[in-house]
Amino acid sequence: MIAASKAKIEPGKLLIGGEWVEGSSTFATVNPATGDTLTQVAEASAEDVDRAVRAARRAFDDLGGPWRKLSASDRGKLLWRLADLVERNLEEIAELETLDNGKPIFESRYVDIPSVVDVLRYYAGWASKIHGETINSREDAFTYTLREPVGVVGAIIPWNFPLLLTSWKLGPALATGNTVVLKPAEQTPLTALRLGQLLTEAGFPPGVVNIVTGGPAAGQALVRHAGVDKIAFTGSTSVGKEIMRGAADTLKRVTLELGGKSPNIVFADSDLEAAVKGASTGIFYGKGEVCAAGSRLFVEKKVHDEFMGKLADRARKIKPGDPLDPKTRLGAIVSEQQMQTVLRYIESGKQEGARLVAGGNRVSLDGGKGFFVEPTVFDAVENRMKIAQEEIFGPVLATIAFDDLDQVAEMANQNIYGLAAAVWTNDIKKAHGLARRLKAGTVWINTYNLYDAALPFGGFKQSGFGRELGREALDYYTEVKSVWVNLA
Ligand code: NAD
Repeated sequence: MIAASKAKIEPGKLLIGGEWVEGSSTFATVNPATGDTLTQVAEASAEDVDRAVRAARRAFDDLGGPWRKLSASDRGKLLWRLADLVERNLEEIAELETLDNGKPIFESRYVDIPSVVDVLRYYAGWASKIHGETINSREDAFTYTLREPVGVVGAIIPWNFPLLLTSWKLGPALATGNTVVLKPAEQTPLTALRLGQLLTEAGFPPGVVNIVTGGPAAGQALVRHAGVDKIAFTGSTSVGKEIMRGAADTLKRVTLELGGKSPNIVFADSDLEAAVKGASTGIFYGKGEVCAAGSRLFVEKKVHDEFMGKLADRARKIKPGDPLDPKTRLGAIVSEQQMQTVLRYIESGKQEGARLVAGGNRVSLDGGKGFFVEPTVFDAVENRMKIAQEEIFGPVLATIAFDDLDQVAEMANQNIYGLAAAVWTNDIKKAHGLARRLKAGTVWINTYNLYDAALPFGGFKQSGFGRELGREALDYYTEVKSVWVNLA
């Protein structure tokens, strides 16, 4: 049974310069568990985006204004207050996220929204610790650097971790003194809009964060706008390339967190029970709609049959269920379109000759119209196949058997992406040796899918550039200025 939600969902407006305003048109945001419309949300036109950018610019440029007058420590306090408000409203926000995205309430309540609180608090702490340096390189001059905010940041967010990835951008952007125009994904705008209310309640001055809901056109307007100094984008590699091209005309700063096809490598000398669990959460957590999903599984031949037997059993036991049910561990695919993409890849895997050992089908819960797909495992995959090379972004695992370390290191790196990787072994030389050889921004050893606000996250190769989280992220939201004083 799909439970009825208790959440009251109002139509969404745009937040521009501290005012909630109508857009020029609206679009529907859909509950993927039922296929029903949750509410209508304002669609920002290029003119709306322009007004939002100008509001952000005013809030940034106004030297006597409330944002510039705040001390770094007061900016930190505002971020901390925002974190408190998110925490206080955690249940409601978690439910909104689950309704809009289809992810299990278990994930929203215990992972996504608590992590938003962590990230905001982490950057609240950084606000007062951003500084330049005094550089004593010459007798005839006093020289030092200033670290200044970049200006107006356009933040473009995908649908898979809507509020969490928003916090990855807002945290460092606001801690360093920028202003922001935020564009949530059109599939999942609701938690960003709720955050807009909390930003006002926390006391952020008008225009410091503006929210323009809408689709690719709103994103493009932001990317092209001459009043935007930096685009912080998370999303697909193909859109990332468009954004780079679009930002070139005004030479905006760009950071890109893009797709992945992360290898999860299991050696025969690992704790196999733990590795089976890791392979399963690596791909089925978040319905596989995780940029760092362990979607390519490499298993050493010596243990292949035993391992795959256990993994397939485990996968068959995970049943897609009502996302609002606390027991559900696999929710609904975010949209009908994304579900069709996933089903097409499953078909392609069969066509190319991979062996389907678990799942493979759409599931209907209570005969409803929700977008559910079984946890799916392919074995006997070859590295050249589409399901081994392309990002599926769904609960579909491609397994490849290997003989030795050199062979798997080479195969793991034969891919355009380089976001994450994992190695399962009890041999520390092998583990650390491979960690160095893998071309990926994150390497997990004997674990999968761990994140921390303090650990930088981002990609090698076509998984993008720049880093989010950690101290590293702050560099991408600041400019360095060298100041010379003549002492001669
Ligand atoms: P998407 O690229 O289609 O859309 C992402 C955002 O960009 C949305 O807000 C969308 O409206 C906007 N957009 C679309 N076209 C645009 C354009 N031409 N100009 C400006 N903005 C535009 O991605 P998606 O389908 O929402 O998300 C899935 C993708 O995101 C996957 O490829 C996934 O790997 C990637 N992702 C990466 C990370 C990471 O940290 N590396 C994290 C999460 C998701």
